[in-house]
Amino acid sequence: MPKIRKKVVAGNWKMNLLPSQAKSFAQEMKTKIDTDKVEVVLCVPFVHLQPVMDIMSGTKIKVGAQNMHYADEGAYTGEISGKMLAEMGVPYVIIGHSERREYFNETDTTVNIKSLKALESGLTPIICIGETLKQRETERTFDVISKQLSIAINKMSAEDVKKIIIAYEPIWAIGTGRTATAIQAEQVCAAIRKQIDAEFGYDVSEEIRILYGGSVSDANAKDLFSMPNIDGGLVGGASLKPSFEQVVCFE
Ligand code: PEP
Repeated sequence: MPKIRKKVVAGNWKMNLLPSQAKSFAQEMKTKIDTDKVEVVLCVPFVHLQPVMDIMSGTKIKVGAQNMHYADEGAYTGEISGKMLAEMGVPYVIIGHSERREYFNETDTTVNIKSLKALESGLTPIICIGETLKQRETERTFDVISKQLSIAINKMSAEDVKKIIIAYEPIWAIGTGRTATAIQAEQVCAAIRKQIDAEFGYDVSEEIRILYGGSVSDANAKDLFSMPNIDGGLVGGASLKPSFEQVVCFE
């Protein structure tokens, strides 16, 4: 039986907002967003986690981190572990965002070990995969996505895979204002679900949530999120605007 999956809209604030600005924007979102239909997550810089969690306490808005280290502890100056996030009560963490792959040398393998560690720490990883413009133009999208996915979920059990969230984020659409069409995004998200079905079976593939990310806005959220295999979005720029409310309430 096809499963009704709860949609997720996760905002990625990236490295934006001063502490004072983060608090006042979080307060604004708190008064505007109150929905049970969609799981709303704000992925904020580490320094904003506690203040934003305090503001969102008692609301339906959840908070996530944008990265974590793959070790529990140790001599990794400047890093934050999954265990630290979990003890703070942070439920979500973005893993392998294309900006981390580009600027911090993250690879499919580090994405895999970080995702396994996130699960072990009790966090839900939002695992980002996506092709470059060149890969799309040379018709390698499906091969690239399939390889990124299979490495990202290496050594995961079926139970693990049910818990993770995959964010399909074509690199050419991130922060560019150039969105994948709903059909392009649906085709890739459907292929991701099919691959999960082939490896873990139908039930797991019906449970896993697959998001689209890349220039999502209040103007295109409805078209994208209404597609059968798109379970919501990972939203960068538009998550820093008051209109994020309309992205969340896209129906
Ligand atoms: C992102 O940061 O994951 C993202 C998709 O950014 P934007 O929505 O700005 O394209």
